[in-house]
Amino acid sequence: MRSIFSKRVLTGGQIKPAQVHFSEGTITHVTPYPSSFQSDHDLDVGDLFVMPGLVDTHVHINEPGRTDWEGFETATQAAAVGGITTLVDMPLNCLPVTTSAAALQTKLDAVTDKMWVDCGFWGGVVPDSIDDLPELLAAGVLGVKSFLIDSGIAEFPPMGRNDLERAMTIMARTKKPYLIHAELDDGTTDVEVGRRYGDFLASRPESWECDAIKLMIDLMRSHPCHVHIVHLSSASALPMILEARRNRKSLTVETCPHYLTLQADEVEDGDTLYKCCPPIRENSNREALWQALRVGEIDMIVSDHSPCLPSLKESESGDLGRAWGGIASLQLSLSLIWTEMSKRGIDLSLLGDWMCKHPARLAGLEGRKGQIAVGHQADFVVWDPDASFVVTAEMLHHRHKITPYLGRRLRGMITQTWLAGQKIVEHGKLLSSAQGRPILKAN
Ligand SMILES: [Zn+2]
Repeated sequence: MRSIFSKRVLTGGQIKPAQVHFSEGTITHVTPYPSSFQSDHDLDVGDLFVMPGLVDTHVHINEPGRTDWEGFETATQAAAVGGITTLVDMPLNCLPVTTSAAALQTKLDAVTDKMWVDCGFWGGVVPDSIDDLPELLAAGVLGVKSFLIDSGIAEFPPMGRNDLERAMTIMARTKKPYLIHAELDDGTTDVEVGRRYGDFLASRPESWECDAIKLMIDLMRSHPCHVHIVHLSSASALPMILEARRNRKSLTVETCPHYLTLQADEVEDGDTLYKCCPPIRENSNREALWQALRVGEIDMIVSDHSPCLPSLKESESGDLGRAWGGIASLQLSLSLIWTEMSKRGIDLSLLGDWMCKHPARLAGLEGRKGQIAVGHQADFVVWDPDASFVVTAEMLHHRHKITPYLGRRLRGMITQTWLAGQKIVEHGKLLSSAQGRPILKAN
């Protein structure tokens, strides 16, 4: 039996003095602070903030096949240092893409001994893999993902309406979510994209997101499965999402640190580090996303960490049309979001809902992950909300130190990360070895 205690622990939806006891990796009880009995096995972290380890359900690790873009060793080390104890890997841009049980097994064989935090896996569904979907679900993916638009890689083509109906019929038989990259190209946007950010923004309008989400809501009427909209950028889609939820549709939605911290006006032309799809939009849109988070209209914040080879970012040419779309930020999520929350005076406890509890629920891990409560895994991030730091390349554990956040001063310094009752990070240094485990789930 061990314990950790602090004057500020997030438990039961409140920040309060508490002592969290755990044994064999699991939280056994939470008592008031300080409890009468303390020993060498009890760790006092003073008034540092103790929160559940973060759960990041949107990470592109790209192994096997494109390990030179990132890989499990570097991604999960970055996650651990960033206070993330559970992540869920996307079915692309690895090779093979994770669209069959065999491809999932290939991934597990390649990566299981390289995990510094616990990792689940999303499967993928493309038009030619729909028949493989039942077996893929049975093999243990936590849910599946499709695109409605070109994904950027040939092996992962988009789904048409009929394809979606077939996949949703299968998904309706499970409780696992169907994740959708919600942009729908209506063929009317004809913008030549080069170095100008305004052109790139105009080439992927808000209407693409709205049209895609509208299609999914329409299909949910006859195919009622859990649909989850990944990386919502456009706040104008929120009214229809709310309307669908009022009509008891099982529809959840996430957004990402880049849509909440960055804004189109500050992006210099030719700065391809800011390219992601859907794009970073205007400040008014960013503020609308924050408002939607506050009132619970957006469920969660996940990184959409999507790195690539430096050469694919086209930094020399600054060509936003040709550059790979994706932002690397995995290690920085907590501090990025807390920096913006503290500017806006938003209560710290909401961070636990957005970055721990709700993503754990999406991945079907409620009761095990995402909260400091009895029976949950003893995963903690210990951090100082008042300390700040400047982002440098040296501190990043991502394979490529390419991110739009270099040089920014962020609030919220992580001092320790605990995974299943073991301290795995202290002051940015990784301790011990890769002890994360794969998370597989039957239907
Ligand atoms: Zn993504």
